[in-house]
Amino acid sequence: MIRVNENYLKIQASYLFTEIAHRVSKYQSEHPEAKIIRLGIGDVTEPLAPAVIEAMHKAVDDLSKRETFYGYGPEQGYAFLREAVAKNDFQARGINVAADEIFISDGAKCDCGNIQELFGNDVVIAVPDPVYPVYVDTNVMAGRTDEAKNGRYGKLVYLDSTAENGFVPDLPKRKVDVIYLCFPNNPTGATATKEELQKWVDWARKNKALILFDAAYEAFIRTPGLPHSIYECEGARECAIEFRSFSKTAGFTGVRCGYTVVPKGLMGYTTKGKAVELRPFWTRRQTTKFNGCSYVTQRGAEAVYSKEGKKQCKATIDFYLKNAKIVKDALVKLGYTVVGGTDSPYLWVNVKGDSWAFFDKLLHEANVVTTPGAGFGKDGQGYIRISAFNSRENVKEAVKRLKKVLG
Ligand SMILES: *Cc1c(COP(=O)(O)O)cnc(C)c1O
Repeated sequence: MIRVNENYLKIQASYLFTEIAHRVSKYQSEHPEAKIIRLGIGDVTEPLAPAVIEAMHKAVDDLSKRETFYGYGPEQGYAFLREAVAKNDFQARGINVAADEIFISDGAKCDCGNIQELFGNDVVIAVPDPVYPVYVDTNVMAGRTDEAKNGRYGKLVYLDSTAENGFVPDLPKRKVDVIYLCFPNNPTGATATKEELQKWVDWARKNKALILFDAAYEAFIRTPGLPHSIYECEGARECAIEFRSFSKTAGFTGVRCGYTVVPKGLMGYTTKGKAVELRPFWTRRQTTKFNGCSYVTQRGAEAVYSKEGKKQCKATIDFYLKNAKIVKDALVKLGYTVVGGTDSPYLWVNVKGDSWAFFDKLLHEANVVTTPGAGFGKDGQGYIRISAFNSRENVKEAVKRLKKVLG
C-alpha cells in the first residue's frame, strides 16, 4: 500500500496567490474593459543586462564545439563563478568568505527549502511572522511541526515582526535551534542594522543555535552602513548560513541561479553532543541530490560581476527603487504609514483595517492588484504589500488611481 507522508496534509492550503488570482479574474470577467495593473507580484519585469545576454550567447557557442563543450559540471558550481562571487560579494566589502565556501545552485528558494535536511527532526525552528512561506512549509513537510491552529503551526516558534519592534524580531524568550531571518525583508521591505543583526549573532553563538540568513534583496540596499551580509557581524561564521540569489538582483527569476554560503568551521551537534562540521553535510546533500546549475547560466551570472554587468544591473535596481519611491511618496502624502521601499522593492503599507478588504477596495475602485499582508502570517493582518517590479508607465498610472481612490 502506498502510504503517504502525512505531514503534507498539515500544510495550510497556500491560498494567498490562488485567492488573489481568483478575485482578479472574477473582477476582470465582470469588467472586461478594466485595465488592471498588477503591483502584487514578486517577479521582476525588466530584461536581463546586455552584458549577461552577451555572456550567455557566448556560452551557448562554447557548447557547439568539442574543444569548449561542457557536460556535467561540478555540483557546487564552476570555480570561475564561485571565485567571482567570493571576490565581489564578500572580499571587496572586507568580508571573510572564500570561494570554497560558496555553493552555486538553481536558486535561493531551493536552497532555503533544502537546507533543513541537514538538521535533526527534533530541532526547534523559529520563523519570522510575516514570513516567506518556504521556510515554514518545508519544515512542516519534514514533520517538525504539529497541526496548524488559527494559522499557526504547533511546535513552530513565531518571531513577531511588528511596528513595535521596527519589523526586526526580538530575541526569542525560549530555546530555539534554527532561526530564519531575511533582510531586506520579504514581505515587509524592512532592513536590519548591523547592531540588530549582531544581537542575533551573539544570541545564536551563546545558545549553539544556527541563523539561516536570506539576503535575496541585498542589492537593493542603498543606505550606507546597512549590512549586506550577516558575515559583516562579528562571529557570524560560527553560527550562520547565508542565501543569495541572482533573481531579484540581476533579473534571473526565469534563468535560475543563486548560491549558499556555508563557512568552514560552522558546526552542528550530534545527540551525544559531538560537534560536526556542516559544510561537508551540505556538500554531501548537493552532490547526492543536485547536478549543478547550467554552464550557460553560470556564465551569465559571472557577467553580473563584470564592469559593464555591475553598471547595468545597478541601473535596473535603481529603476525599481525609483518606482518604489514614487509609490511610497504618494502613499505617505495620502497619510499612510509605509515601511520599506527605500532599500527594498517592497512597500509594507499599514491600511488601518482588514488586509483583504483593502485589497478588494483597490482592485474594484483603482483596478490595482496588491498582496494582502494577512496572507504572509498573523502579523501581516492590517497591511498590504506593494511591489515596485513594474514599468514606470504602470507605476505612474497606478499612483494616479490610488490618489483618486484614497485621496
Ligand atoms: C525571491 C526570493 C528568493 C529567491 O528565490 P529564487 O529561487 O532564487 O528565485 C529567496 N528568498 C526570498 C525571501 C525571496 O523573496
